[in-house]
Amino acid sequence: MYLKRKLNDDLLIFKGLRFPYKANFKNSHRYQTIVGIGGNIGDVKRRFEHLFVEIKRDKRVELLETALILKNPPFGFKDQDDFFNSIIVLKTNMQPYLFLDYLMRLEKKFGRRRSFANAPRTLDLDIIFFDNRIINSKKLTVPHPSWSKRESVIIPLSGLNL
Ligand code: AMP
Repeated sequence: MYLKRKLNDDLLIFKGLRFPYKANFKNSHRYQTIVGIGGNIGDVKRRFEHLFVEIKRDKRVELLETALILKNPPFGFKDQDDFFNSIIVLKTNMQPYLFLDYLMRLEKKFGRRRSFANAPRTLDLDIIFFDNRIINSKKLTVPHPSWSKRESVIIPLSGLNL
């Protein structure tokens, strides 16, 4: 169940039990990271819920907070469905590249339709910030290069209680 609110002709926000969410702060892991989540195929909100549950029971990460969900039009290639985006705030002891591998495994687990092999990816996970690290390599750019230009990041991010 989500409460829906229209921000303008393009943007719609959804608020539910798990998005936005704030945990009781335990702070048992070292690094704080902000991850953008998105998708535009199938029931994305439901997939976010499953991702939430998966992360919540994974001892390698500590879920601190999630943002509201924003439905917004695609940029770049316009001829596709609107995107659903949110933000999750995690703590982890993993180093950035290991954490990236972890996210890519999660994308695989949740992002593919189980119906057939190599189906389109339906969940995108991006590292927006990783502690105060600045990383510019072939594999990883942190902070995420376009975070400040995207409504899909800025709007969910602005509602967090960091
Ligand atoms: P995409 O899923 O199409 O957005 O691209 C994923 C690829 O982007 C991965 O293979 C990463 O190596 C690379 N990448 C670079 N910077 C980041 C970042 N901050 N978060 C996630 N992936 C990144």
